[in-house]
Amino acid sequence: MSSLMNSKAYHYAETLLEHTPVGVAIFGAHDLRLLEFNSSYQGFLDNYFATRPEHKIVVGKTVLDWAFHSDSTRVMEIFKEVQASGQPYRNEELPFHVGEDLSYWDFMLQPIFDDTHKMTHIVQTLNDVTKQVQARQQAERARAESQRVSNLAESDRQCIAIIERVARCLRDSLEIDTVAHNIIYAISHHIRPSKVCIFSSDSNQRALRHVCAYTDPVSKQTVSDLEYIPFEHTDLPFVPSILQQHEPIFVSNLQQAATQRQIDPQHVLVQAGIQGYAFLPLWHSNRLEGALSVLFDTPIDPDGTEARVLRGSCAYFASALAYARQHNSATREQSYLRAVLDQLPEAILIVESADGTISYANEGAAHILGYELQDILKQPLHHYRTPLTEDDLSFGGRHITPWTVIVSRALCGETIKGKEAMVGRSCGSHLITLASCAPLYGEDNIMNGAVIVFQDVTAQKTIEQHKNEFFSIANHELRTPITVIQGFTEILQLKSQQSYQFDTLTLYALRSISEQSEQLTHLIEEMMDISRIEQFRFTLQRQSHNLLTLFTHTFEAQQVAARQHTLKLILNNIQPGEHLLAFIDEERLRQALNNLVGNAIKYSSPGSQIEVGLRVQRDTEQEPEAIFWVKDEGIGIASDEIPHIFDRFYRARNVDQSQSGFGIGLYLVKEVVTRHGGRLWVESKEGQGSTFYGSLPLAAIQSGT
Ligand code: ADP
Repeated sequence: MSSLMNSKAYHYAETLLEHTPVGVAIFGAHDLRLLEFNSSYQGFLDNYFATRPEHKIVVGKTVLDWAFHSDSTRVMEIFKEVQASGQPYRNEELPFHVGEDLSYWDFMLQPIFDDTHKMTHIVQTLNDVTKQVQARQQAERARAESQRVSNLAESDRQCIAIIERVARCLRDSLEIDTVAHNIIYAISHHIRPSKVCIFSSDSNQRALRHVCAYTDPVSKQTVSDLEYIPFEHTDLPFVPSILQQHEPIFVSNLQQAATQRQIDPQHVLVQAGIQGYAFLPLWHSNRLEGALSVLFDTPIDPDGTEARVLRGSCAYFASALAYARQHNSATREQSYLRAVLDQLPEAILIVESADGTISYANEGAAHILGYELQDILKQPLHHYRTPLTEDDLSFGGRHITPWTVIVSRALCGETIKGKEAMVGRSCGSHLITLASCAPLYGEDNIMNGAVIVFQDVTAQKTIEQHKNEFFSIANHELRTPITVIQGFTEILQLKSQQSYQFDTLTLYALRSISEQSEQLTHLIEEMMDISRIEQFRFTLQRQSHNLLTLFTHTFEAQQVAARQHTLKLILNNIQPGEHLLAFIDEERLRQALNNLVGNAIKYSSPGSQIEVGLRVQRDTEQEPEAIFWVKDEGIGIASDEIPHIFDRFYRARNVDQSQSGFGIGLYLVKEVVTRHGGRLWVESKEGQGSTFYGSLPLAAIQSGT
């Protein structure tokens, strides 16, 4: 630059220019020939022409010589423009390709004029700003990326917000139809498809049934609704078998799929011009509750908002459908149950524990209480409590509990089965009922109330009472003449043994009179026992006895009496001389055993064998017990009659009607055995004989030594 700036004033300027990081060069304005440049400019030239040293500009060459490269051509154009216009040129961040790399330069051309305003020189300044530009570009890229991520997050947030709104509008729906309408509303409102169809699975999981659909009024599509889609043979695009389809299906463009032969071009959806298509199976806890098909007139993005909202809402749709289905079936069951309860002849009441009001009553209850049904419901229990005096509560000499007391006990948590209860009716009359009562617990195990079921047994009880009165009179009236007959018979029999010579017929007659009157006494005794049981007066006189002695003695007595049968005694698991101590009513147990042996004799042919057995069950874990049995080879019992054989007055079909009997013996035997804490049961085959078994708890077993 020294040739240009000879003066001393420019001496410092020259030094400054030489060391400035900005490249400075001076060109002749007339021919654009390079005249001078500083070392920074030199650095630029070295870099730029590193791969093409033959083109390198040197002092004396013009910029026109650079025209080998697009960048250089452009630079040459700029020089020419400044040369022609005399206007300075300034371009910040002008890109230059330096080898493979791209660099950026602040580029400036400044024309210099002489006193006559003639352009003499053009000064070029170049400043390498590549690093700043790259840093800025990087920052911009980072900003763009962060914008993209924040856009994504925003779109996710919007999707979640939509899904939340969808879930909210399903929350309170309980009917399948309402749920379906809410689903359709949520989808059509938020993602604007051209058509949505919702299906629910049928109860036996064989097909999808159409519930409801929505078609966008501005849509051109004309797809008609499918009413029934069998699980196995579906015509839905891309769904070969519904039960195997667990994931949603999204097809961005059905038309394109048809062109690529992924779907039949004749398919109804393709023909209807549908583009975007979604099929969403709605699974909840391994059960397919239904499905959704969503159609669009435009293509959809399988990762776009529509697909994400649908995918995210699936679980809510499925659980809403499942909940509605369960609610439906619970309501249905409830209404069946209610219909059954309403129709039952038994009276049923439900009393709430919170306030003691009657929350349910059937017609039977209204009838028994003597009120209209609507007058009972929602009213406190005590409104219907007709006061009962001690007299009202007494029946046949017994005290009967008022029904409200039984309800109160249930409200305190007690379960009561088949208890007699007195009901005072609105008209002032009384009814005897058989009542069962139980507390009702809610899900949290807190008592909500109590249910009482009762039936009017007044008529039965009155008849029973009359019968009992009759029995006790009959017993009294019959016993006296029978005792007299038996007394005289015994006198005559004694006389016959002493002096009087009676003929055989008379002796036979006397024996028959004695046997029959004994039989009659036995029968009256049994009748009396039944009426004692009914009046809760049947008691046992229990003492400690040796069961083995009782059995062997009873057996021996029966063996002597049974003239036409062979009786055999079996003792199992009993050591000689052992004492089987039991706390028993000896007399009643003897009667029971006699009864069983008597039946075995009565219901088997003469000459057959009867086995009487006793066995001890010694189990270290449990108390010892005695098992006894009476086995015959007689007529047996039909299997359908076995469950009734211990019922009062029950006689089997195969009994010869000429055989005497009332069907009360077994009932009494069972009563006696169970009151001793034992069990009674029978094994029998019709025509092949029967074995009656009984068990009795043993208090102790003492060895005979
Ligand atoms: P009854 O013998 O007076 O009829 P029970 O109460 O003793 O009354 O017996 C009831 C019914 O059980 C009998 O009528 C008979 O049908 C049947 N039954 C009882 N014992 C036997 C038996 N050993 N074999 C076949 N049937 C029997």
